[in-house]
Amino acid sequence: MKARIVLLPGDGIGPEVVSQARAVLDRVAAVGGHQFIFEEALMGGCAIDATGSPLPDDTLAICENADAILLGAVGGPKWSDPAAPVRPEQGLLKIRQHFGLFANLRPVKVFPALAPHAPLRADLLDNVDILFVRELTGGIYFGERQEQGNGSTAYDTMQYSTAEVERVAHVAFQAARQRQRRLASVDKANVLASMRLWRRTVSAVAEDYPDVTVEHVLVDACAMHLMRRPASFDVVLAGNMFGDILSDEAATLAGSLGMLPSASLGQDRRGLYEPIHGSAPDIAGKGLANPIGTILSAAMLLRHSLELEEEARMIEQAVSSALASGIRTADISGPGTQPASTTEMTQAILKRLPA
Ligand code: NAD
Repeated sequence: MKARIVLLPGDGIGPEVVSQARAVLDRVAAVGGHQFIFEEALMGGCAIDATGSPLPDDTLAICENADAILLGAVGGPKWSDPAAPVRPEQGLLKIRQHFGLFANLRPVKVFPALAPHAPLRADLLDNVDILFVRELTGGIYFGERQEQGNGSTAYDTMQYSTAEVERVAHVAFQAARQRQRRLASVDKANVLASMRLWRRTVSAVAEDYPDVTVEHVLVDACAMHLMRRPASFDVVLAGNMFGDILSDEAATLAGSLGMLPSASLGQDRRGLYEPIHGSAPDIAGKGLANPIGTILSAAMLLRHSLELEEEARMIEQAVSSALASGIRTADISGPGTQPASTTEMTQAILKRLPA
């Protein structure tokens, strides 16, 4: 298969982890006889420095012609002045909106080898394998907002249309069909009108998927259940803000932010793939970054944008087997152990892929 993949390394550790994921994709291409054409473009703080914009038109044009986009991370202290006219994170919102990436998929899986490093008791983490499906282009992050009375009052608006909820619900139900066929839909229907619409709409979509078991969970209860019985969840469907908060909460289960991938998908096959972590300025340039979140994002890219399921699984198994062998970057190693560098971790993963 021939595919065009745009790399947006971004800032901080972004370039370090994206180069590792590229090495893994190069191996997959060589083994499977695929031709991946990589193009690199600017986004984030580095793009502001070079062009004044966090997502320059040139970058968007390159992405327009791509089958998939792999992003590192954007941002850092140099660009974090709240009074600055442009900020790196604006590039993230813009690219999601531009490509209509309304569904954010965030798998949270606890690798057995890492359970001892997670903040919850190891027995609670047995078989934790959750897929969060978060609505990404609507809700309170995109609603009307205003500060009034010299900043003494402010409001934000949470608004959803039936169509917005339907399309992300279909993504979640279809994903549930590929997994354990259980779906928890998160809302706050006891208080918010927009969330009553959410619940009504998810219930209506559920009628198309009689083979999937649905439960409606209030967001506050869900936050608690995720800590008390995380293994009971399969697919969790949530709106933009609740999905943001809950998926970050659940990320702690995996032991480190550096472990987790994500995919943002729209109506067509092209998706944006990125680790869930930020640019980690505290460790940038030191060779300490854990590349696994980005490498697993590359696996999601193969699965969702290129339909290379077998290759995606090959990468996931190689990561699992590397971790089982005991190799650890600093973020997942215990005290007194000598951590592996970013490239050593990648080499351990490459070693477990076909040559
Ligand atoms: P962060 O995720 O960058 O870092 C939080 C902590 O986790 C740090 O101690 C960091 O060293 C560690 N960490 C993160 N990724 C790691 C990895 N791969 N390997 C090892 N350790 C890792 O979050 P932050 O410090 O709150 O934010 C730093 C910058 O990143 C900010 O400018 C923020 O706006 C930006 N950010 C960007 C994104 C994105 O690009 N999608 C997401 C979150 C934050």
